[in-house]
Formats: sequence, C-alpha cells, structure tokens
Amino acid sequence: MGFAQSLFEHVIRIAEKNKAKKVSKISLEMGELLLINPEQLEFCFKVLINGSVLKDVELDIEFVKPLVKCMACGREYTDIRSFCECGGIVSVEGGKDIIIKKVEMEV
Ligand SMILES: [Zn+2]
Repeated sequence: MGFAQSLFEHVIRIAEKNKAKKVSKISLEMGELLLINPEQLEFCFKVLINGSVLKDVELDIEFVKPLVKCMACGREYTDIRSFCECGGIVSVEGGKDIIIKKVEMEV
C-alpha cells in the first residue's frame, strides 16, 4: 500500500499544480529489484483514486532491469550475480528506482 499511496499523493500534487481536471495516464519506470507486484499496486491505486481527478487514469508500468557490470573487466550481465566469470566483483546499478516518466492530464 505504501508505494501506491505515495504515487497517488505525488501525482495529485502535480495535478493540483497544473489545475488539471482529469489525469488520463501515468507512465512509470519501475526497477525489477523492487519486486513490486503490478497487479497489487494497481488494485491499491484504484482504491485510492476513487472520487479524485485520477479516477480514470491508466497506469503504464515499464519494468527496468538492473545493470550488472563487472568492475574488473567491464562485462555486463542481465541476471543478478555476485561475481563475474572472470572472478571480478560486479556492481549492480539501477533496478531499484521508481521514475514517473510522464503524467498526461487534461487542464
Ligand atoms: Zn569480469
């Protein structure tokens, strides 16, 4: 519920600032490592937006894979691992962020 709540409050603030009559679409980028269940998120979100300017909004969620890169040889992986095939230590970047890319509204 926590994330749906903060997303809702965030978008409501944007809508108020723009004096929007209606918010039609929210495009989100969500890191896969957050392990957020999109169905659960949408369900919680729908409860929150009931009766607000967001009530007919469409959630467009795009999942972003983390970037796993070896600090020794620079090889990149798409799966989460601790070590590279060369034995080097990898760094994991991204995959933990939520970015609101776009909020479409009618003013
Ligand atoms: Zn390596």
